[in-house]
Amino acid sequence: MNEQEKTSQLALFGGQKSITKTFQKYNSMGEEEVEAACEVVRSGNLSNFLGAWHDDFYGGPKVKQFERTCEAYFGVKHAVTFNSWTSGLIAAVGAIGLAPGDEVIVPTWTMCASATAIIHWNGIPVFADIEPHTFNIDPKSVEKNITDKTKAILAVDIFGHSADIEALAKIADEHNLKIISDSAQAPAARVQGKFAGTLADLGGFSLNYHKHINTGEGGILVTNDDRLAERSRLIRNHAEAVVGPKGEEELENMVGYNFRLGEIEAAIGIEQLKKLDRLVVSRQSQATFLTNHLKTLEGLTTPIIRDGHSHAFYIYGLTVDTELIGVSRAKIASALAAEGLSLITEYQNIHLLPMFQRKIAYGGSGFPWTLNEARKNISYEKGICPVAEQLNECSFLGLVLCLYDLQQDDLNGIVSAFKKVWANLPLLRGAD
Ligand SMILES: *Cc1c(COP(=O)(O)O)cnc(C)c1O
Repeated sequence: MNEQEKTSQLALFGGQKSITKTFQKYNSMGEEEVEAACEVVRSGNLSNFLGAWHDDFYGGPKVKQFERTCEAYFGVKHAVTFNSWTSGLIAAVGAIGLAPGDEVIVPTWTMCASATAIIHWNGIPVFADIEPHTFNIDPKSVEKNITDKTKAILAVDIFGHSADIEALAKIADEHNLKIISDSAQAPAARVQGKFAGTLADLGGFSLNYHKHINTGEGGILVTNDDRLAERSRLIRNHAEAVVGPKGEEELENMVGYNFRLGEIEAAIGIEQLKKLDRLVVSRQSQATFLTNHLKTLEGLTTPIIRDGHSHAFYIYGLTVDTELIGVSRAKIASALAAEGLSLITEYQNIHLLPMFQRKIAYGGSGFPWTLNEARKNISYEKGICPVAEQLNECSFLGLVLCLYDLQQDDLNGIVSAFKKVWANLPLLRGAD
């Protein structure tokens, strides 16, 4: 093989790799976070929450400062921190007053906590299909799934692009539903100038270590509704012990947890929030570069950004028309991986998890589904979300932009890998 042949031949078949350097993992922690954490440790006050009706019910100085900073940043009346966004989602679903057996419509193309937050209040998740190109909940599928037991839509701003919140708000208005926005992957993404997550009744973001900004573990809930904010704070911190002395009359779902964020994490969060804009802008420019170079490849669809939206690019989501190009996604993915592309990911269909397939959650006899006569035999079978299933099985290919600190030469390498694989499609076809 001569040099020319080595660089044009697929690494899968013995040619040279397009990418020889390993991508640097992204680390947003700097001296600012070290200082902030040390200051808290030196203060001796690592958490100041008290699970009783007292000034300290709302947490320590760093938690409060972080919450006020988030309110200013996101332009909302209330930010409530949690020890994870999973906790924040559970509090949000509880706060809207979901009753056992009530239904919440949620997309199947998401992280499992979007659906289990409903199960935690003995609600029934009803899975909606997604739009093929934004991967977000499809408002038409939401409408089809509404019954007289539907109480809310739990929309997800998947991969960093907001769901069609305008269409969802219209449906919610007509049917008197609440909207909860799981914007875990979309901090600082915008819709008509507003932040994703802030246009729902309740929304929020994850601060776990593989999101744009992180505190190790953590979450931020945002809302403009005073009651929902207060009910979320109660659920965060042993509601049942506090409602009496506080004089709360609305007792539904005032079953509390300990979902409190520590002072060290809050202090780190204050520093991380200062970096959010820059981190998101860098992912956006990486995505623009990739799209400019990949959009001409036949049968490959690059991420779409709706008018009036901006995308935070937690994941850069591609779809491959495998019928058109005649090569399976598995083959494409293995050819790209052989070229040294380590940041490829597939995604998931939550309705196909064993818990939903077998309806085994609390105990083994179908609870909480048995609470809802009309839904105790709800189908989670394959076929209920054809778009999401097809993407999951055949055509979706994501690049995890958020996890890496990609440099220009890395981006050039990614483009070369795709171009080389596409130039060799006839050979891959033969190998399928
Ligand atoms: C990360 C994530 C969550 C959960 O957040 P944690 O902070 O890890 O609990 C929920 N929903 C989506 C869509 C996520 O990506």
